Amino acid sequence: MALSEFELIERFFSHIGHPREDVLLGVGDDCALVQVPAGENLAVSVDTLVEGVHFYAGTDPEKLGHKALAVNLSDLAAMGAIPAWATLALTLPESDSEWLKSFMRGFSALANRHRVQLVGGDTTRGALSVTIQVHGFVPPGKALTRDAARAGERIGITGTLGDAGLALQQMAGGRLPEKWLRERLEAPSPRLAAGLALRDLATSAIDVSDGLLADLGHICARSRVGARLELWNLPLSHEVDEHIKMSGDWSLPLTAGDDYELCFTVPPDSCRQIEAALGGIEERVAWIGVVEKDPGIRCLNADGRQIEAGQGGYQHFQSAK
Ligand code: ADP
Ligand code: MG
Repeated sequence: MALSEFELIERFFSHIGHPREDVLLGVGDDCALVQVPAGENLAVSVDTLVEGVHFYAGTDPEKLGHKALAVNLSDLAAMGAIPAWATLALTLPESDSEWLKSFMRGFSALANRHRVQLVGGDTTRGALSVTIQVHGFVPPGKALTRDAARAGERIGITGTLGDAGLALQQMAGGRLPEKWLRERLEAPSPRLAAGLALRDLATSAIDVSDGLLADLGHICARSRVGARLELWNLPLSHEVDEHIKMSGDWSLPLTAGDDYELCFTVPPDSCRQIEAALGGIEERVAWIGVVEKDPGIRCLNADGRQIEAGQGGYQHFQSAK
C-alpha cells in the first residue's frame, strides 16, 4: 500500500545521518533549528539532479542517493568547508517504499561517513528530481574562493580525470563499464579531507563537475588570469589513457565532467608542502599547469605544440549557434 506523505517522512527522513549536537530541532517541525559554532562562517550550497538530464531513468536508487549528496559535499570540499547539515527536496512520481529505502541507504551511508545530519526537506509528487542543500563551516577569511589565483602559480588536481566520462560513453554505447569505472560515474567521493588540507595552502579551488576546461575557466575568469595546461601531466587512469592514445581525443579529461576532483592553484614554493599535506589523504595529486597573465586556457601537448581542445563543459541553457 502506498504511504501518505507524513508516513513517508516518519519512515524515511527522520533520524537520518549522524546525530549532531548542533541540531537543536531536526525533521518534523516547520523549520529545523541549528547552531552555527561561534567564530565560523556558514557555507551553503544546493544542487539538483533531474532524471533524464543528470541521470538515466532506472538508475540504481542507492547510487543516486549517494551521488546526489556527494555532488553537494563536493562543493563544500572545494571551499575548504566542513559539512554539517543537509536538507532534501524530493519529487517522486509515486511513493515507492522500496525505491525510497534504497535511495536513503545510499544517502545515509555517505551522510554518516561525513557526520552530516539530515535536518529537513520537502516531498512532492511529479517527475523524479532530487535537490539537496548542504551547510558547512569555514573560519572567516579561510574559504577557498575562485577569485584569488595569481599568474605564476602552479595548478594542481586530485585523483584522475575523465573516468566518469568514459563510463558514460560506454553506457551510451550499450556497454557495461567495469565496476570501478562505473563507480567513478555513479558513486563519486567528495574530496572533503583534501579541501580541508588545502585550506591553508592553496590560493583558489574549484571542484571539477563540468569538465576541467570549464571549471578551471571559472577560476581564470574570476581571478582575471589565464592558464597553460600541460596535457602530458594530466592524471589519467590506464583506460582513459588508452582511449586518448587510440582516438587522439582529449575531450574525456578536459570537457566530459562529473569527475568531482579538486582543481586548485598554489604558489610554486608551496607545492612540496601540498604534496606532503595531501599525501595521507589522496592517492594522487598532480601538477598540470601554470597560471598565466593572458586570459584563456592554452593546452600544450608533450612536444610543446598547442592543441585545440574545443569548448568545455556541459551547459543547460547553451544558445544554439
Ligand atoms: P511543511 O508543510 O511545513 O513544509 P512538510 O509536511 O513539508 O511541512 O514536512 C514536514 C517535516 O518533514 C518538515 O520538518 C520537513 O523538513 C520534513 N521533511 C519533509 N520531506 C522531507 C524530506 N524529503 N527529507 C527530509 N525531511 C523532510
Ligand atoms: Mg513542505
